[in-house]
Amino acid sequence: MKLNFSLTGKTALVTGGGGVICSVISHALASQGANVAVCDLSEERATAVAEEIRSEGGRAMGIKVDVLDRTSVEACAAAVQEAWGGIDILINGAGGNKPTATTSGDRSFFDLPEDALTWVFNLNLLGSVLPAQVVGRQMAKTGGGCIVNISSMAAYRPLTRTLAYSAAKAGISNFTQWLAVHMNQEYSPNIRVNAIAPGFLLTAQNQYLMQREDGSPTERGGKVLAHTPMNRYGTPEELCGAIVFLCSEEATFVNGVVLPVDGAFSAYSGV
Ligand code: NAD
Repeated sequence: MKLNFSLTGKTALVTGGGGVICSVISHALASQGANVAVCDLSEERATAVAEEIRSEGGRAMGIKVDVLDRTSVEACAAAVQEAWGGIDILINGAGGNKPTATTSGDRSFFDLPEDALTWVFNLNLLGSVLPAQVVGRQMAKTGGGCIVNISSMAAYRPLTRTLAYSAAKAGISNFTQWLAVHMNQEYSPNIRVNAIAPGFLLTAQNQYLMQREDGSPTERGGKVLAHTPMNRYGTPEELCGAIVFLCSEEATFVNGVVLPVDGAFSAYSGV
């Protein structure tokens, strides 16, 4: 038996494709042979990532999309279908947090503004549900496809301070299971919906929270490392194997799972 992780002939639509994690994931999918639509609110970033992929010999296009606007998602999906004939893979990568939706010394739980909470809830939950509706409708028609959501360590047990993000990511894990069952029962046994739950990565956005200027861990960074048995941060590149696996012909019986890629953070009780 020879295992096959090739994605040649498949078309992937990646939301948040201009971001830290999903730009790397877009490269990985293209390197496995997929046509990759790099879709992002930032047209500039989406276009730049697609250009990088093409310059390396891959097939990619950059498209502006707002995952919170159904019309925008429909236009994006239509453009991808027109170019490549269909969508086999949807990676729901758009997501994120904002400081005003997290508690801090001068922002108590009681004062968290509704607009910030709504922004984080919507981006991290509705922003995956809407593309899954639009692309999932086509998958239901063709009777096959693969959706991968991006959950978080915050989904298993909430991280301190990040109320809205933790709740929304718990929602994404729950939605992943729900949609996997729904698609199989209502439409096709060949539609799969899974998620990855990245552990702690050290990225430009969170470096200030995790590391001091001299490279030593902040108090929060120290706690993260102490609860990560591998005793290090992950990299976006280390998420790619899990994504490619979930999208490949080798995962045809893997459905409704949230796969942690976390250096055993979620396995560790702390004792
Ligand atoms: P990022 O901010 O680098 O990328 C997110 C991308 O989403 C950005 O390019 C942004 O322009 C885009 N985006 C924002 N709003 C959008 C909208 N309405 N429509 C379309 N695109 C929109 O973040 P990242 O660190 O690469 O995170 C990607 C995903 O991984 C997110 O869901 C995040 O919650 C999750 N995640 C990240 C980490 C981490 O450590 N970085 C850990 C666990 C999970």
